[in-house]
Amino acid sequence: MSDIKLKKVTKAYDNTIVIQNLNLDIKDKEFLVLVGPSGCGKSTILRMIAGLEDITSGELYIGEKLVNDLSPKDRDIAMVFQNYALYPHMTVYDNISFGLKLRGFTKYQIRERVHYAAKMLGIENLLDRKPKTLSGGQRQRVALGRAIVRDPKVFLLDEPLSNLDAKLRTQMRLELKRLHSKIKTTTIYVTHDQVEAMTLGDRIVVMNKGEILQVGTPMEVYKYPSDTFVAEFIGNPPMNIVPCFLKLENSEIFADISGYSMKICAIDINKVREYLNKKALLGVRPEDLKLEKSADSSVKIDIIEVLGSDSILNLVLKDITLKAKIKTKEQLFNTSERVNVLLKGDFVLFDADTQKALCYVNSDKAEEKRQLVNN
Ligand code: ADP
Ligand code: MG
Repeated sequence: MSDIKLKKVTKAYDNTIVIQNLNLDIKDKEFLVLVGPSGCGKSTILRMIAGLEDITSGELYIGEKLVNDLSPKDRDIAMVFQNYALYPHMTVYDNISFGLKLRGFTKYQIRERVHYAAKMLGIENLLDRKPKTLSGGQRQRVALGRAIVRDPKVFLLDEPLSNLDAKLRTQMRLELKRLHSKIKTTTIYVTHDQVEAMTLGDRIVVMNKGEILQVGTPMEVYKYPSDTFVAEFIGNPPMNIVPCFLKLENSEIFADISGYSMKICAIDINKVREYLNKKALLGVRPEDLKLEKSADSSVKIDIIEVLGSDSILNLVLKDITLKAKIKTKEQLFNTSERVNVLLKGDFVLFDADTQKALCYVNSDKAEEKRQLVNN
């Protein structure tokens, strides 16, 4: 078993605490992604697991074994860094096989393993080359190859795709996913990119300032963010979060936002009864706002960003803006046009002081039923 446990792990550099009392369980064979802004402590966690950094206090287990004092080479872990860390004077073959030689594998075993990994990564034709003759993507593959041949218990990947251009990053992301589904080695992957986190992770861990804010599957974190930070960090464009006041009028719910009233469709009133007529923050994803043209509305479309199949509409309501995401083909809007805004889908209410989620609401039961009809 290659599950990993961090129990109350704290890390301080001199007197500065960068990770405090962190608890985290990584399951055997899992692809876990640590995501958060730069400087939040992701690499520090990875380096502690690898044994490259001491743990100030707390316990780290790999399988059943307490490994706090085990040297990196005895942890059976392979780490891939953002800068690849290849040896420039060695061929690709030698770079990949270097760790195996040190560990006393025979020449034959080494050849088998290098060719197996090279084939899996599509770099068999590059084995005689030196790193400086390779592209960024090819170098990244060599770095991965070096990790794969060791057949370690755990892979630790620290922003491995950050140096690649956008197209290659997308392609390598897919390859990493395919690779993991094939070899199923427990993997911890660090990134500041929420798209990578969403697309790669079996589960993702959202961090900020040395703390874990939420752990869950990508969709759990997307649908049920634990606080406003997670809500804004995961998803693009980010969730709209605005001060609000929910009120009941003729058995229908309206959200007062910046002096505007937004109708909330088909909602079970009991779900939000306790939050009526109180100040809160309303969180709504851009795709859950619906727009209707209405010449006498005071909400105006400011800028329209056409992304292809989707368009992002920036709506101006006095002192706040909301982003709505619509299907470009389905509705045509123009800049300066006036619209009514309806909330039809999921929303989250957050506590205005603590920023923690108070409740998650789906406001569109009717549409769900329509979708269930099968022909
Ligand atoms: P991330 O990988 O999420 O960008 P890091 O784990 O690299 O963040 O860093 C977390 C915090 O620890 C940062 O504030 C960083 O400045 C600090 N830090 C990292 N390494 C050291 C070090 N060797 N000495 C002092 N502070 C460090
Ligand atoms: Mg880092």
